[in-house]
Amino acid sequence: MSFIGRLGRLSGLAELAGRSLLDALYPLECAGCGGSGKIICDSCVDDLPVLSAPYCVVCATPGDFARCQVCAETARRFDGIRAPFRYSGAIRKAILEFKYSGIKAAAPQMGDMLAEYLDSNPLPGDVLVPVPMHRRRLRERGYNQAELLARRVADRCGLDCAPELLYRTRHVGPQAGTADAAQRATNVVGSVAVTSVAGATGTRVILVDDVVTTGNTLETCADALKRAGAVSVWGLTLAVAGGTRLGE
Ligand SMILES: [Zn+2]
Ligand SMILES: [Zn+2]
Repeated sequence: MSFIGRLGRLSGLAELAGRSLLDALYPLECAGCGGSGKIICDSCVDDLPVLSAPYCVVCATPGDFARCQVCAETARRFDGIRAPFRYSGAIRKAILEFKYSGIKAAAPQMGDMLAEYLDSNPLPGDVLVPVPMHRRRLRERGYNQAELLARRVADRCGLDCAPELLYRTRHVGPQAGTADAAQRATNVVGSVAVTSVAGATGTRVILVDDVVTTGNTLETCADALKRAGAVSVWGLTLAVAGGTRLGE
């Protein structure tokens, strides 16, 4: 079993031992080459699949078009989505480990990559809001990876972060196991709400998540924010899956 695999199996122990202790005992392993020290080492960073044009100007789905079919045919509730990478190779593996294998120590580096991207590709926004996780899943996982990213980007870019502004009103099962796109869309509609209308009114929000696939989750978050009076809602994610419908 790989080192990461063993570490994943140890994540249950982390609840007992404390994650920071576990993080200290087990150094990060590069998702690209397996080298020790970082979730993506300096040489593998140069090989990451950068998202470059052409892509949909609205949802950033890669493809030889100005707008993808979905964005051409429907009015999105978000103003746009941007991401530094395509969801493949080492960044995909790193995101999966960060999200599902308890590799919380990946957060600072992943957040820094997002902050650097936002620095050189500014989006309109006053406040960063992580895509919320249902409290049941949060209990299981121990952390919301989107919140860790948003907090890091906020620190690095001097923006406000409002991790409590959105919440999940009901538990949505794992999206990856739901093959049908329409069913996935139904699952997330109305499943997110704002905790404070006053907190959303008049704000320009940047939603933060690790990866965007169908855009359904960001759409739902943007809908809740705009109903509460948000002026604009952009999505900022580490990677965009585009074309592959893997679930969020
Ligand atoms: Zn490497
Ligand atoms: Zn699109």
